[in-house]
Amino acid sequence: MQWFGKGSSNVEDGRGGGGRVAVGGGIGIVVVILGLLFGKDLSGLVGQLPVADQVEVKKGVPAGDEQAQFVSGVLESTEQVWGAEFRELGLNYDQPTLRLFTSSVQSACGGASSAVGPFYCPGDQKVYIDLSFYQELKDRFGAAGDFAQAYVIAHEVGHHVQNLLGISAKVDQARRTMSEVEYNKLSVKLELQADFYAGLWANKAQQLKDFRLDAGDIDEALNAANAIGDDKLQQQAQGEVVPDAFTHGTSAQRMYWFKKGFETGDIKQGDTFNASRL
Ligand SMILES: [Zn+2]
Repeated sequence: MQWFGKGSSNVEDGRGGGGRVAVGGGIGIVVVILGLLFGKDLSGLVGQLPVADQVEVKKGVPAGDEQAQFVSGVLESTEQVWGAEFRELGLNYDQPTLRLFTSSVQSACGGASSAVGPFYCPGDQKVYIDLSFYQELKDRFGAAGDFAQAYVIAHEVGHHVQNLLGISAKVDQARRTMSEVEYNKLSVKLELQADFYAGLWANKAQQLKDFRLDAGDIDEALNAANAIGDDKLQQQAQGEVVPDAFTHGTSAQRMYWFKKGFETGDIKQGDTFNASRL
């Protein structure tokens, strides 16, 4: 894809100088195990982990930093798409902030290491990403390409949309009354809807004047969705890391919902909670 906009003004650069530091294998493993036991929501638990977050946070991204510029551009396009969608719904779209970090970060949802992958925190309405995840996406999951990277951002922004629409709160409330197994099913629906919203973004972004979709872009996103399905991951060694933990749906489901969002571009088609099939 190509983006000719100026980039979002909602990016915070909290990356440290030296790349991967202090928070290494040990804590990463702890987080993964917690993820396996408790499902998607790591927030309260990772809060107990020591987080080295003494970095200076700057507004915006440096000129010449292509990857950060790209992420900023994707975020800007999501602001335009969701701004228009919300206007159509008669609602106001509060733009999320995207925070870049390295190794570990402190969020309103607690501290987190890069090992949990990109995540969204409803408490501060921020998307968190360590850009080294993209290397992992390519090397470990075989999902290369800029549009695979854009899909990751669009999926996390999808969680922000769910937050604004009150969907996340309903799911959180329901969680208190159900078993872990039941909750996992609900979590899958939430995740698949975020994939649908990512697809919807791709559909609407095509109509933006500053946006151009390249041949093969959608395949890159579908390939990424395929690569990070729960079933695929479980075939690999236990303890693999996925974008925002486990219980996200199978590869086929993730591809189906992204595609449905892309093909329909209609938010009403994205009710994964009442869908006759997932
Ligand atoms: Zn997610």
